[in-house]
Amino acid sequence: MASKKILLKNASVITETGEILKNRDIVIADGKIVSVGAPSPDTDPASGNFDRVVDCDSYYVTPGLTNLHCHCAMNIFKGIAEDVDADAWFNERIFPYESKLEAEDVYVGTKLGIAEMLNCGVTAFVDHYFEEKAVLQAVLDTGIRADLAPTVFGTAPNFEARLDEVSDFFEKNRNVSGRVSFRMGPHAPYTCPPPTLKRIVDRAKDLKLNLHLHVSETREQVEQSLAAYGKTPFVMLAESGAFDLNVVIAHGLWITEDDLPLLGPDTWFGLCPKTYEKLAMGTGLVFKKHEQLNFSFGTDGAASSNTLNTCEQARYFALLGKFTENDPCTYLTNDVWRALMHGHQAFSFHSGRIEPGYAADLVIWDLKKPNTWPVYDPVTSILYSSEPSNVLYTMVDGVFLKENGKLVMDEAALLDEGAAIQKKILARGQGQAKVFY
Ligand SMILES: [Zn+2]
Repeated sequence: MASKKILLKNASVITETGEILKNRDIVIADGKIVSVGAPSPDTDPASGNFDRVVDCDSYYVTPGLTNLHCHCAMNIFKGIAEDVDADAWFNERIFPYESKLEAEDVYVGTKLGIAEMLNCGVTAFVDHYFEEKAVLQAVLDTGIRADLAPTVFGTAPNFEARLDEVSDFFEKNRNVSGRVSFRMGPHAPYTCPPPTLKRIVDRAKDLKLNLHLHVSETREQVEQSLAAYGKTPFVMLAESGAFDLNVVIAHGLWITEDDLPLLGPDTWFGLCPKTYEKLAMGTGLVFKKHEQLNFSFGTDGAASSNTLNTCEQARYFALLGKFTENDPCTYLTNDVWRALMHGHQAFSFHSGRIEPGYAADLVIWDLKKPNTWPVYDPVTSILYSSEPSNVLYTMVDGVFLKENGKLVMDEAALLDEGAAIQKKILARGQGQAKVFY
C-alpha cells in the first residue's frame, strides 16, 4: 500500500534561522518531510497524490518548539506552591506532596502537561521525573516526542537499588518507539554526593546513555558546594566524567567564569527564565555568557513556572536580558528565535528544519488574529505577541496532534481525570519529604 501523503499547500515557511520562504509546498510521508519547494504539477492537489491537503495560504509553518527541561507530571501541582522562596518551595510544599504521589497521578499529570505543550506547539521535551513507567506510557499514548530521564537521588537510602531499577527500565524500553529516547537523570550535584554522581555517570556510559540534571540552579547551591567541597557544582560534575557525554544542564544559572572551560562539545543548557523571575533567583552569569553556550529553553515544572510554553520562556529571556543589560539593542529577535529552534539539536530525532529528510515535527501558525495582526515580521509576532491560540496545527512524526485549533486527544476526559487526581492529592495531604538539602 502506498504511504499516506500529506501536502501543506502554499505555506510561508519560517526557517530555524528566521528566514521567510514564501509560497512553499511541503510534502510529508512516513513521518518525514519529503520535499519543500515552489508549487509544481506534482504538488497539485488535483493530482491524486495526497491523502490530505491543508491549505496554508494564509499561515506560517515553522519547526516545532522544544522544551529542554521539564517535570511534565508536575502539571498536577500547578498553583500549589505560590509566593515562596526556592527553599520553601522544595521542602515545605513540593517534596512533601511528591512523597505521596502515585503512578496514576504521574500518568495523568504528564498527560495534562503534554496536552498543554501540544497546544503551545511543543513537539519534543526533555523530562526529569520519577514513576518513569507512567511518564513513558503518557508519552506513548499521546503521540509527542520525549527524551526521558528518570530521577535518581544519590542521597536516597535505596540509591543502589534505584540505579539498578532505572537501568532495567532503560534496557527494557530502549527500542519502545522512535519517538522516545532516554537519559540518566541524577537530580543534581547537591543531592548526588561525588561517589554516587560518579556511579551514575559510569552507568550512563556503560548503557550508552546521555545525561540530564540540575546544576548551579541558585547562588546558595554554589556557595554550599564551595563550603562543603571547595568546588563548584560544575567542577563536581566535570570530575565525575559527565562532560564526555551529551549533557542537558537544567539552568546552570549561577555558572562561574572558571566553570566555562569545563563544558564539553555536547553540553546543552535548558534555560527557564520565567522560573528565575518567579522565584527571584537572580540573573546569574549564564545571561552574560549565553552567547558562548549551547542553549535553548525549558519550562521547568508547571509548579514553578505555571506554563509549559517555551515560546513564552524565550520571550521572558529576551525581556529579562534587555532589562538587566539596560540595553534594548541586545537579545535581538532573530537571535532569540535561533536559540528557541536550536533546542532540536540536543535531541536525537533529526528534527528542527523544514528540509527533506527531517522529521515532520511542525507547527502551523495562524497570525491573522487580533493579538498578532497585522504582521510586519512574523518572527516578532510569534516571539512577542503570540498565544497558544495562534497554534492552529501541531504535527509530530507526520501526525496532527492539534488540528484546526483543537487537540486531537479527548481533552474533556483528560480534564475530568485531572480533577479526580487533584481531589485525591488534597485528601491525602502532605507527607514527610524524602529528600532534604
Ligand atoms: Zn527542574
